[in-house]
Amino acid sequence: DYCHQQLSEADNIKVAVRVRPLFPHETDKGGTTVVQVGGNTAIKVVVPGPAGTSMQRDFAFHACLGPEVGQADVMHLCGVPQLLEAALAGYNVTVFAYGQTGSGKTYTMSGREEVIGSDSYAGDTHHDGIMTRAVQHLFAAIEARKNDTKYGVAASYLEIYNEGIYDLLNLKASWMDGMLAKNLPVKWDATLGFFVPGLKQVTCTRVDTMMEVIRTGMKHRHVGSHELNIESSRSHSIMTIVLHATPTDPSAADFGTPRIGKISFVDLAGSERLKDTKSEGAMLKETTNINKSLFVLGKVISALAERDSAGTSAHIPYRDSKLTKLLMDSLGGNALALMIACCSPASTAVEETLSTLSYATRAK
Ligand code: ADP
Ligand code: MG
Repeated sequence: DYCHQQLSEADNIKVAVRVRPLFPHETDKGGTTVVQVGGNTAIKVVVPGPAGTSMQRDFAFHACLGPEVGQADVMHLCGVPQLLEAALAGYNVTVFAYGQTGSGKTYTMSGREEVIGSDSYAGDTHHDGIMTRAVQHLFAAIEARKNDTKYGVAASYLEIYNEGIYDLLNLKASWMDGMLAKNLPVKWDATLGFFVPGLKQVTCTRVDTMMEVIRTGMKHRHVGSHELNIESSRSHSIMTIVLHATPTDPSAADFGTPRIGKISFVDLAGSERLKDTKSEGAMLKETTNINKSLFVLGKVISALAERDSAGTSAHIPYRDSKLTKLLMDSLGGNALALMIACCSPASTAVEETLSTLSYATRAK
């Protein structure tokens, strides 16, 4: 029974796991399927041991999606429409994808990166991810409500790389002469919370404008990875949609009073540890910083889960990383979050998969 029905109840973070198909580059290396989805909420991993032995580990999550689940079904199986409805009603919601590089994070959130990031992209119906589908859903919902609610919609899209913030909709502000010139600051404001001054906000009155935002952001992420030597697998990207809903029916109790909801789509950096011990200097700093954001996110999520179950007011370390500062008003409190833990089914990736599943378990 996977829905966010009771908005005020505990358990505001839902966790879904998505297992992608086994790929030829894995079978080529002798990889076999060791991760199996059983039922809608159970998953088992057969961990190969020495001398032909093996050990089975069982996990349970709010939703478990196997390799046969296509893009069109992910939204619904993960309860994304309910989250969008909540945002339209004035709640802050977050959808984030976690997992090792190559596990399907970008595919799940956006679609095929190489296609969306190309100039010829004109929609990829079969492969488009949650963001595109969510945007279509949002504008249809807004249209359906036009008789009693007026919506203002704005979008922004940023990247966090090496604890620096870059505007994916305004390349020039962040990158000059083929170099990462400067990054944007994060400021604190008593009413706004943490925000990024100068970040481009695109007003979207039509679905096409927001599709263009997604396309531009993806393209720039792609450009950045090629021209500036940024590995997109090491950056976090956040696309944010802010919704101002103003009731226009004079007989409504809240007539004229806007409610503000927010949706954040987060494609996290790859969760794998860099095993290259030769990493030095800038590389080492980068690794530490990337792990820092993911590490702090993990701490925030488990502190929230603990607080929910214990009913206490534990300290939540939002301020310890850029990522968690920016997500502060969208994780915890009244906010609703969905974490999609992505993994490969392959025996060759089993260590990373177990680490992903245990990170995801902390969030439940
Ligand atoms: P990540 O963002 O986690 O590094 P990607 O989303 O880029 O990984 O996925 C790696 C590759 O696998 C991409 O080419 C992507 O299109 C493909 N892929 C990922 N998940 C699926 C899936 N469920 N079905 C088909 N192809 C997938
Ligand atoms: Mg990716």
